[in-house]
Amino acid sequence: MPAMRRLPFFTDEHRRLAAKVDGFCDADIATRCDRDEHDTDAVSREYVRALADASLLRFFEPLDVRACCLIRERLAYGSPLADDLFAMQGLGGIPIARFGTPEQKSRWLTAIENGAIGAFALTEPEAGSDPAGMQLRAECDGPADDPRSGYRLTGEKTLISNAGIADIYVVFARAADAPNGEARFMALIVPGDTPGLTFEPVQLLSAHPIGTMRFDGVSVPTAQRLGAEGDGLRIALATLIRFRATVGAAACGMARRALDEALAHVQSRRQFGRPLAKFQAVQFMLADMATELDAAQLLVARAAWLADNGDADGDSDSKPNAKEEQLRRAVSMAKLFATDHAHGIIDRAVQLFGGRGLIRGNPVERLYRDIRALRIYEGASEIQRLIIARTLVDKG
Ligand SMILES: Cc1cc2nc3c(=O)[nH]c(=O)nc-3n(C[C@H](O)[C@H](O)[C@H](O)COP(=O)(O)OP(=O)(O)OC[C@H]3O[C@@H](n4cnc5c(N)ncnc54)[C@H](O)[C@@H]3O)c2cc1C
Repeated sequence: MPAMRRLPFFTDEHRRLAAKVDGFCDADIATRCDRDEHDTDAVSREYVRALADASLLRFFEPLDVRACCLIRERLAYGSPLADDLFAMQGLGGIPIARFGTPEQKSRWLTAIENGAIGAFALTEPEAGSDPAGMQLRAECDGPADDPRSGYRLTGEKTLISNAGIADIYVVFARAADAPNGEARFMALIVPGDTPGLTFEPVQLLSAHPIGTMRFDGVSVPTAQRLGAEGDGLRIALATLIRFRATVGAAACGMARRALDEALAHVQSRRQFGRPLAKFQAVQFMLADMATELDAAQLLVARAAWLADNGDADGDSDSKPNAKEEQLRRAVSMAKLFATDHAHGIIDRAVQLFGGRGLIRGNPVERLYRDIRALRIYEGASEIQRLIIARTLVDKG
């Protein structure tokens, strides 16, 4: 099946990048991806090193969402784990690129572009879909704008990708309440080797370095705060909105791989004296899979184009302007549709493989497990529906 790059939303430069990523995947991903499931942490580090060496981590400043989509689509086709690693460099890098001072960018963003492993720590045991419920405390030991002051972080984050292997974490925490009693949040850059920070890995159904982070009085200088005290939630949401289309792109990559695997299988596997591909019921299934994949690619490409070409910030608060609203709706539709339908496409690919589709080592078996997380992370499908619906009915 053709990749997303053929669509008119991409420039020739994007298509040249996609061809480069093909070569990268053949040389640096295909040679490693059989270790994804049993040597996850080590191979994750190798993927980030290889991405940096190939200059594929330089699209966060200025943010080129279409480039990120093409990279994620192709990486996810070859190794969903390699795609996860690229995504986390983006989620760690974008808040610094967008909200960091020149000094913060030259130190921390440059490090992420050069292969320091990034992470984005928002979720907590009691704050998932509703991040405003976060409880990780950041207490300042002096005036907040005095560079000699520092914060002490106490609390916990959970389900954090790259927890334990990352070098640089963008951590969201609760600051002192505003004088009117309103909760305020901030974003801080926290190196992985900061004293008082500990990690506990969590095992998922697919290969993915992830875990819990505990902060026991972790000291962070105010120079490592992004934006002002009170900007934290805005920074988190702006990052997620800007990057959301790329999750849909990763889903398209996984779905395209499943469809390619299924097409090859139904043409070689014979039952009742002929290839499975000769049965109309099988053909109809393939037709639906291809149609859904095309629709998903179109929605993702449109959302990525809007993110790159609209002049929306994607980070205003409760009353977004028309362009921001259009962007939010488009990226939520792209993520919702692409991840939901990729799940269905991969499920049908497993069905077409019959029992072989369940055997460990079959690419569709792995995709079946890998695709599941995409309907949950970076805003679950239900949250995307809420965002879309709000642009339709809740304008108050
Ligand atoms: C593989 C993976 C990687 C992740 N990586 C990171 C990371 O790097 N950094 C990070 O900060 N977090 C990360 N997460 C956490 C992820 O962002 C959260 O799991 C997600 O936001 C959902 O939160 P929750 O798990 O607490 O579920 P909950 O918020 O408890 O939601 C449970 C269910 O209820 C639904 N729901 C919630 N509220 C509503 C509502 N108002 N209306 C209708 N339905 C609702 C949800 O859609 C979901 O289906 C990761 C998760 C996974 C699975």
